[in-house]
Amino acid sequence: MGQGTGSSSHTLDKDALRARYRAERDKRLRPEGNEQYIEIKGLFAEYLSDPYMPVVPRAPKTDHVTFAFIGGGFSGLLAGARLAQADVTDVRILDKAGDFGGTWYWNRYPGAQCDTASMIYLPLLEETGHQPTEKYVHAPEILEHCRRIGRQFGLYDKALFHTQAKSVTWDEGVKAWRITTDRGDNFTAQFIGLGTGPLHVPKLPGIPGIKDFQGHAFHTSRWDYDYTGGDPQGAPLDRLRDKRVAIIGTGATAVQCIPHLARSAHTLYVFQRTPSSVDIRNNGPIDADWFAKVAGPGWQDRWLMNFTGNMTSGTETEDLVQDGWTDLAHRIRARIFALPPEQRLPANMWAAYEDADNEKMSEIRARAEAVVRDRQTAEKLKAWYRQLCKRPCFHDAYLQAFNEPGTHLIDTDGKGVERITARGVVVAGTEYDVDCIIYASGFEVGTPLERRAGFDLVGRDGATLSEYWADGMRSLHGVHVHGFPNAFFVQTAQGANFIANYPHNLSDAAKTIAATVRHARETGARVVEVTKEAEDKWVSLILSGPGLMIGSQDCTPGYYNNEGQDRGPVAKSYGGYPMGPSAYFHYIEAWRQSGKFEGLVFG
Ligand code: NDP
Repeated sequence: MGQGTGSSSHTLDKDALRARYRAERDKRLRPEGNEQYIEIKGLFAEYLSDPYMPVVPRAPKTDHVTFAFIGGGFSGLLAGARLAQADVTDVRILDKAGDFGGTWYWNRYPGAQCDTASMIYLPLLEETGHQPTEKYVHAPEILEHCRRIGRQFGLYDKALFHTQAKSVTWDEGVKAWRITTDRGDNFTAQFIGLGTGPLHVPKLPGIPGIKDFQGHAFHTSRWDYDYTGGDPQGAPLDRLRDKRVAIIGTGATAVQCIPHLARSAHTLYVFQRTPSSVDIRNNGPIDADWFAKVAGPGWQDRWLMNFTGNMTSGTETEDLVQDGWTDLAHRIRARIFALPPEQRLPANMWAAYEDADNEKMSEIRARAEAVVRDRQTAEKLKAWYRQLCKRPCFHDAYLQAFNEPGTHLIDTDGKGVERITARGVVVAGTEYDVDCIIYASGFEVGTPLERRAGFDLVGRDGATLSEYWADGMRSLHGVHVHGFPNAFFVQTAQGANFIANYPHNLSDAAKTIAATVRHARETGARVVEVTKEAEDKWVSLILSGPGLMIGSQDCTPGYYNNEGQDRGPVAKSYGGYPMGPSAYFHYIEAWRQSGKFEGLVFG
């Protein structure tokens, strides 16, 4: 009897929580989905200009290179480095930014920092010998590391910065890709790589009146230090001492920069639509003696596989990283393994997952209450959704920032900002006069790939990638696509699809690129292409799996779930290897090592 009562009261709590989550989600769902955001162009084009480096005039390129890679972030750097190690040095990397770094070139907002441990987040640590200074390093160190990779592997020589590809077309006559750019370039490349990244086109919220604001405004990915004072290294934003500042958005970016704004601005209004879940960060310096002991041959690959194993398969006996990510995974697994083997059925495993998540989210909500002095503010900062519904955040100064006397949380109860006027921001009929609006409103995700990349890939017989993928993504390993010879895609879908440490996917794809190009060279092949049969088989395998690891439709809307709008059967094609990320990394390593390149034809 006692047991029954306990269990039913537990069920009741879970039901109440589910109902709260559903209600919070429902009030945030918008019929316009991704269309609620404004594409930055025309009147808003100034939001895209580069505040960090001037555009240097140069003559257009009309030559031929062995390998052209579009994107100078981690993807391009990793591919370039692995190609250099395979003695392919005629590599040209293109990027719209003024240097290498990708996301870390653009995102220099105060407090920017990696969210995954540096030991596994920073690529090529072993090859460069760089010791990260902190468990979670700050953005300037990441950008400098990107430059280090560029220098060490000779990638600066042929790089084209402040350059956007406008067309990328397969030329069957010369068996090469023709690339034109916004800088007048028109050159060919035997091979191409595409690593344009998932989050690189900033977006603005479509708030009525956004054009009318007469004060200063910018997007977090184009931080205006001339206006705010300070620098990316964390110097105080001293020019905000007498300024009233609004920040719109409370996602992962805002969580990192708000503490700096709160310390410096005269008045800071934080406009919130949905609170982030903000767990403990616990950052600290990395000790040189400890690092020297850890960093033996092959260490970074071991750490990568260890983190991935801890997060997914659970086959690791130790946890090298030990952070909020692995803690979450351990809790879920502990609940599942507490079930007797015969009860490990999908419904019970889901319930175990839910229990683990409820426990974690309760802790996170309790943290808001413990840290934030004003009870009402603390209440509004509590996140009412499952932790993986939105990007989990970790920070030890964000919640504390709301204890600063000049910082005010303006919660919009899921509705978003009502209006922007010439003088400020309106919520629930109250106008907040401000000198500056900072848009922490994120990046385009659900918009068409060709809009984000700035071109549509045109393969054999004039077929476009957008048409080829209209009914869902098709590839072998997420890297090779039939009809698009000598092209390599560097991204997560149809591969490991491992989101908690994104660079692990990129690092692996770079190995595949280098191995494939090396094999083409050794065998004298000019063209490499995946067969239709191999691609079909791989797509069937992907479709047999559970689909995306994140982005459940019952989650609060955001870019993880296409703003809550069901993408239909197409969504499943963007899933990963059904047996999970660790199994994928083992599988693909064996595929490369076999030397057979099964599924590819070299001719
Ligand atoms: P997000 O898309 O996560 O956040 C955008 C924010 O703007 C949300 O809080 C959103 O609210 C809010 N918003 C949108 N429209 C309105 C409106 N009309 N009124 C009020 N608020 C509005 O962008 P971020 O730049 O924060 O983060 C993007 C991603 O970049 C992260 O998820 C993460 O993957 C990555 N990132 C990684 C970091 C790292 O690794 N260190 C650091 C920072 C970012 P709502 O939630 O309701 O949609």
